[in-house]
Amino acid sequence: MRMSKGLFPTLKEAPKEAKIVSHKLMIRAGLMRKLASGIYTYLPLGYRVIRKIENIIREEMNKTGAQEVLLPTLSPQELWEESGRWEVYGPELMRIKDRHNRLFGLGPTHEEVITDLARREVKSYRQLPLTLYQIQTKFRDEIRPRFGMMRAREFHMKDAYSFDRNEKDLEKNYKKMYQTYQNIFDRCGLKYKAVEADTGPIGGDVSHEFMVLAKTGEDQIVYCKKCGYAANVNRAEYHRSPVTGHQSSVKEKPLKKVKTPGMKSVEEVTGFLKCKPKDLVKTLIYKVDGKPIAILIRGDHGVNERRLEKLLKAKEILLADEKTIEKVTSASLGFSGPVGLKIKIIADSDVASMKNMISGANEKDYHLININIDRDFKVDRILDIRSVIPEDLCPKCKTKLTFSRGIEVGHVFKLGTKYSQVLKATFLDEKGKEKPMIMGCYGIGLDRIMAASIEQNHDENGIIWPLSIAPYQVLVLIVNNQDKRQIKIAEKVYNSLEKEGIEILLDDRDLRAGAKFKDADLMGIPLRITIGNKAIKGNKIEIKIRKNNKVHEIDKKDLIPKIRSLREM
Ligand code: ATP
Ligand code: MG
Repeated sequence: MRMSKGLFPTLKEAPKEAKIVSHKLMIRAGLMRKLASGIYTYLPLGYRVIRKIENIIREEMNKTGAQEVLLPTLSPQELWEESGRWEVYGPELMRIKDRHNRLFGLGPTHEEVITDLARREVKSYRQLPLTLYQIQTKFRDEIRPRFGMMRAREFHMKDAYSFDRNEKDLEKNYKKMYQTYQNIFDRCGLKYKAVEADTGPIGGDVSHEFMVLAKTGEDQIVYCKKCGYAANVNRAEYHRSPVTGHQSSVKEKPLKKVKTPGMKSVEEVTGFLKCKPKDLVKTLIYKVDGKPIAILIRGDHGVNERRLEKLLKAKEILLADEKTIEKVTSASLGFSGPVGLKIKIIADSDVASMKNMISGANEKDYHLININIDRDFKVDRILDIRSVIPEDLCPKCKTKLTFSRGIEVGHVFKLGTKYSQVLKATFLDEKGKEKPMIMGCYGIGLDRIMAASIEQNHDENGIIWPLSIAPYQVLVLIVNNQDKRQIKIAEKVYNSLEKEGIEILLDDRDLRAGAKFKDADLMGIPLRITIGNKAIKGNKIEIKIRKNNKVHEIDKKDLIPKIRSLREM
């Protein structure tokens, strides 16, 4: 491709709203442009990267024997009603009306649609196991679209669904997909970790997330360097020493109500009242199997929801919506507290040993200071439910755990019969007995892979693409576009490399050399060939490797073998 003939709009500055490096560089290098919040256009360079990632995923998925399909984006309300998710999915599911006033959801994920297909087409155990996948645009009306394509409202996903006769076969399929995901992320050149994860609105019993390690990641994970244990912090276990039942001997001070105008978060309240997060108790209203319950947790701690769910033997626990919070506490979000609450209260063991705590007053713009258990409010149960903290030890080998931030690029779930049961996707087994199919589902975000790769591979000058997903492998740069001799040599190089099947970009734009060098670094093409005066006088061609900035000066005649060997590096 000749750059003078195409669309390669690079920018010196990133827009202000771009907070993380991948978002900034994706705009600056001319990979994409914003259309609306969380909605982007891929420009030619960016779309080539998406296609590269797509091809790697497709090749690896096909190797497993899975078949590619294309499910529609629009799916009717009635189907979502059958699974109960028309309601449960909430505002993240975008909905549109047709001319007959019928409602449709814009697919955020496709469990309903694929299960509907399976119940129509699969009748017998002889048709199982079956795995289908698609690579398609997904829509989610994210509450906070941000970080460019990392959390977009329209994005690209590979989603796969497996159907099995029994749990044992599902286990086999799950392992196969897990391995396939590793192959895909390895080929994309990512450094990642697979961690135990929560199943969220997709549901099911077991799931693993594939996390790309990066400080800008929205997820927090912990792992053990010794035994390999790894989990998302919201469900990580840790070694628990026996509870001592220790009660603080601090004297109880008189309760006080203080005005805290607009102070909702732990940071805001502690900043305003000049105290520490560990002096504060958070009152989180959860819906446990539909019923509101208050959870008390120390200000600097989080809740291990998985543990809470297990200890309460609940089927589903979800943070309550704002309406429920207002109804239960008579105050808006951010001012909840245990004093005067009429619902069941569960306190974490660390809260049970606190004295003179700060909490919301269940009144807008007010907090209480010096609240104490038993004197000011009663607790129904004390449970060990805080999430893991840096001082904790590995639950398996008692080594100190390591914390890291991660970007979730893929997620594998064992769904079991969650969807096949309600949608009646059944088959006849060997004995002619009707059984629900056992399902698994497996998602990968293509755009997230691209953004995560940039988070891991860049320097102050721009992107450093791994060869496997680079938009082009080689960039040929003409130093002086007015020099006919340079142009002639560059054209020759360009044609010979193209004949070799190498993906090549020719920077033949009428720009200063400095600007071209800057753009080459910004766009991050792995190999740069410079055609300048040396190429004319000394028959020498310069190849620069973007990854390590090493420069190789070689004879013109050695160019093709050298490029070949560098591509294999
Ligand atoms: P998150 O916790 O980040 O919201 P999720 O659990 O909702 O992710 P899944 O439903 O498991 O995501 O979707 C599968 C994959 O799709 C994710 O691993 C991620 O790579 C990608 N993905 C999900 N939401 C988005 C989004 N808003 N923008 C871009 N990619 C996304
Ligand atoms: Mg999500």
